[in-house]
Amino acid sequence: MICDLCPRKCSALRTEHEGQGFCGMGTLPVVARIAPHYGEEPCISGTRGSGTVFFSGCTMKCLFCQNHEISLTGKGVTLTPRELADGYRRLEEAGVHNLNLVTADHFVEAVAESLSIYRPKLPIIWNCSGYTSPKTLRLLDGLVDVYLPDLKYADDDLARELSRAPGYLSIATEAIGTMLAQVGTPRFDGDGMIQRGVIIRHLILPAHTRNSIAVLMHIKRHFEGVPVSLMCQYVPCGAAKQHPTLNRTLTRREYEKVKRVLFDLDLDGYTQDLSAATEAYIPTWTTEKTDAGSTG
Ligand code: SF4
Repeated sequence: MICDLCPRKCSALRTEHEGQGFCGMGTLPVVARIAPHYGEEPCISGTRGSGTVFFSGCTMKCLFCQNHEISLTGKGVTLTPRELADGYRRLEEAGVHNLNLVTADHFVEAVAESLSIYRPKLPIIWNCSGYTSPKTLRLLDGLVDVYLPDLKYADDDLARELSRAPGYLSIATEAIGTMLAQVGTPRFDGDGMIQRGVIIRHLILPAHTRNSIAVLMHIKRHFEGVPVSLMCQYVPCGAAKQHPTLNRTLTRREYEKVKRVLFDLDLDGYTQDLSAATEAYIPTWTTEKTDAGSTG
């Protein structure tokens, strides 16, 4: 296929196993891990875990990516839509609260096919960078119950510098607006687990509290009523270890400064304890087909 799925619109050739575009991936999903995950927000991980599928490759190239081993190297196992659907079934049988599809924008067509083969009777979560195209969101309309987009930047120069993502703010703003039109603000079951709706995530970067504060103000202005998950779990990974400002975790002062704005703006949402800033929150990836298909 000639691909124009994501906002980059590379018009690049993608075969099942190879891709010439920015994401570098073929059209068959490459998956790094299928397993219950306990590191998400309480309304997503609950007590039984979120049934998470981590896809490899990405349409962004964040210098600080916390999952850089899979997003930048494409490490993982290639699965057909049917094999992917089998993975959903195994997660459901393991008793997870939901199916959580992480960074799958560049595989959206195969994922849509996998859900037509088997759709678990669980909330389906689309967990993405926010750099999502209208075309992708049209394909997901009616398939996804919960959107979990990032809003990484309120500053396009910073988005270009750190993620090579031109036009990030306007693209993510339009995408989140479409997500809200599709599934609305969050609804929870009697146990407090999310069933439908949008939660916006923001990871605070060291030395970039001004960006984080601008992101929160943007959310207040455009998406009042949408909960925000404010994350402080940043750890330097990959190239960020050599970066002059991204080579450290957040200070308590930086975190408190941004958190205060969240409260001052009266935004609903979730915050983390600063002790979350450890590599323990980064899952272990697999290169074995048997492991990727397991729920362990
Ligand atoms: S999904 Fe990949 S190949 Fe397609 S437009 Fe986006 S970056 Fe380019």
